[in-house]
Amino acid sequence: MKTGHGLATVGCILCAIASVATGASAVDDSSLARQPEQLSVLIITGSNNHEWKSTTKELRQACEQSGRFVVDVTLTPETITADSIAKYDVLVSNWNSFGKGDPRWGKTAEKAVEEFVRKGKGLAAFHAGSSSLHDWVAFQGILGGAWAKGTGHGPRSSFTVTFPIEHPITAGIKGFETSDELWYNLGNLHPLDSRKVLATAYCEKTKKQEAVALCTEYGKGRGFLLVLGHDAKALQNAGTRELLLHGIEWAATGAVCVNNDKIKSGEKIQ
Ligand SMILES: [Zn+2]
Repeated sequence: MKTGHGLATVGCILCAIASVATGASAVDDSSLARQPEQLSVLIITGSNNHEWKSTTKELRQACEQSGRFVVDVTLTPETITADSIAKYDVLVSNWNSFGKGDPRWGKTAEKAVEEFVRKGKGLAAFHAGSSSLHDWVAFQGILGGAWAKGTGHGPRSSFTVTFPIEHPITAGIKGFETSDELWYNLGNLHPLDSRKVLATAYCEKTKKQEAVALCTEYGKGRGFLLVLGHDAKALQNAGTRELLLHGIEWAATGAVCVNNDKIKSGEKIQ
């Protein structure tokens, strides 16, 4: 892989090791690469009305280059079992079924994911990764938002993301400008009392602040949704990337300590 700017040390070694298994099975195996202080992430993808291959690659690189995470990818969420996800700290959905009806993952996979979070781990998603499985009450509740009736967006535009409340996920991050899709009237299909809107941006169409990041607590675990991240370029925005990594880490552990000095410097990682 391209290391760029001399940044890649631990992250890229991990990336190289984890990449060995790519293509051998639907689920890569990062267990050999994991260090004790690192968190294990499983990205769920393989279906999305967005460019899931390039956004998954971008997210994987961001996670690995932070040094805090090791990453596996599954393209077959319907094969998830309690045993298959037991070693992970957090699941990240980059999956949806837009245009394919609203197929579910099946009882075994859905119960496994629900219990995974309830017992203390995390479920996160970005952009359209929350916008399927509309009848799965726990999934929708944990993520805190989804595309729903009345949700929309204008053309890609530049806007400023601000943080209306204090939270570990946004601590240390300053408001930032990005070029992305700004969704308005995000749905909230099965709201949990614990749902919090962490970040907003002003929408010219609705003339109000729209939610762009949310979190929840569910049992002993947590959920996080970043509505930003339409494509790989959007995920390269330093603020967006930092917010996403913080959210994934918080969903996994309930705390945030990922070292994002490289990201904060604005240096492009590629
Ligand atoms: Zn989009």
